[in-house]
Amino acid sequence: MPETVQESAGHWQRDLANAVRSADVLLERLGLTAEQFQSAATGTHRLAPGPFASEETLRQFPVLVPESFLRRMVHGDPADPLLRQVLPLSDEDQTADGFVSDAVGDLQARRGPGVLQKYAGRVLLITTGACAIHCRYCFRRDYPYVDEPRRLEEWSSSIALIAEDTSIHEVILSGGDPLMLNDGRLETLCRQLDQIEHIERIRFHTRLPIVLPSRVTDGLIRLLQSLRAQPIVVVHSNHASELMSDCAEAVKRLSRSGFPVLNQAVLLRGVNDSVEAQEALSRRLLQLGVMPYYLHQLDRVSGTRHFEVPEADGLEIHRRLREVLPGYGVPRYVREIPGRKSKTELPDE
Ligand code: SF4
Repeated sequence: MPETVQESAGHWQRDLANAVRSADVLLERLGLTAEQFQSAATGTHRLAPGPFASEETLRQFPVLVPESFLRRMVHGDPADPLLRQVLPLSDEDQTADGFVSDAVGDLQARRGPGVLQKYAGRVLLITTGACAIHCRYCFRRDYPYVDEPRRLEEWSSSIALIAEDTSIHEVILSGGDPLMLNDGRLETLCRQLDQIEHIERIRFHTRLPIVLPSRVTDGLIRLLQSLRAQPIVVVHSNHASELMSDCAEAVKRLSRSGFPVLNQAVLLRGVNDSVEAQEALSRRLLQLGVMPYYLHQLDRVSGTRHFEVPEADGLEIHRRLREVLPGYGVPRYVREIPGRKSKTELPDE
């Protein structure tokens, strides 16, 4: 029997409890005012009528920024790429043609409670609706998490579905963020999946090592190392400035613990839409032992149009990246198109 993983001291839960939950506090901590921010943004995309998203938008998708992530922002810089990812601008209230609530076809891919299947051999589990940060461009910001299992007992029919289908070889734990489950709950879920012989890999899609590095506990590492199935950790970092201090330590710890660690990023206007930003991100990832995996074209979710980079610009950035990085350092530039049998590499020919 594998050794039981004891939950670590709860340090990360305290860090999460202390996260910033208001745009005003965020700006105050950075020495910025709403007016400063508004005038700084004018010219790239006008903010009207006020700088921040409406109360209704914030009720549905509140501000959430852990202290660790905040500490990596540059004080006094309204264009800071980390701040841009989490500050709820009034642009989120705008509707736009082609921007919808389920841009990636999650609901049509639902096979059972919390189970999505889009591609052969793999299923994705919506393990929780919770995240440690609220990325304003989130592709699942409108996902109906309340309809999915919440307690571990509610997973039994989904686990049975996976156990009965021998064509499934990989389970992707997603959400929300699967590392929001505490070590005990995560272990219970992983052990149930690990007992299914035809599951060869368990993949963890998580942003917590980037935004809440204290989540990378001894218990978590021991759990991953103890699995029969091959664990694969896919983190989500969009900018080299994220990969500093405690985050760099946590990511390095993961990459040196004996399992593959990959990164997926989203191409975001005003955050990382330059060759320099993308090159710096790839180089920093490689320094930390993480392989750049995907650069996603933005999923066209309602309220996120201000983040979209035209595909032609993305292609040019990607072309120039191939000139300055080794092949293994260039992420695949992809878009998710609902109903297709795999992600679509760009250009889509
Ligand atoms: S971590 Fe992922 S799921 Fe969570 S808010 Fe950010 S993009 Fe959305």
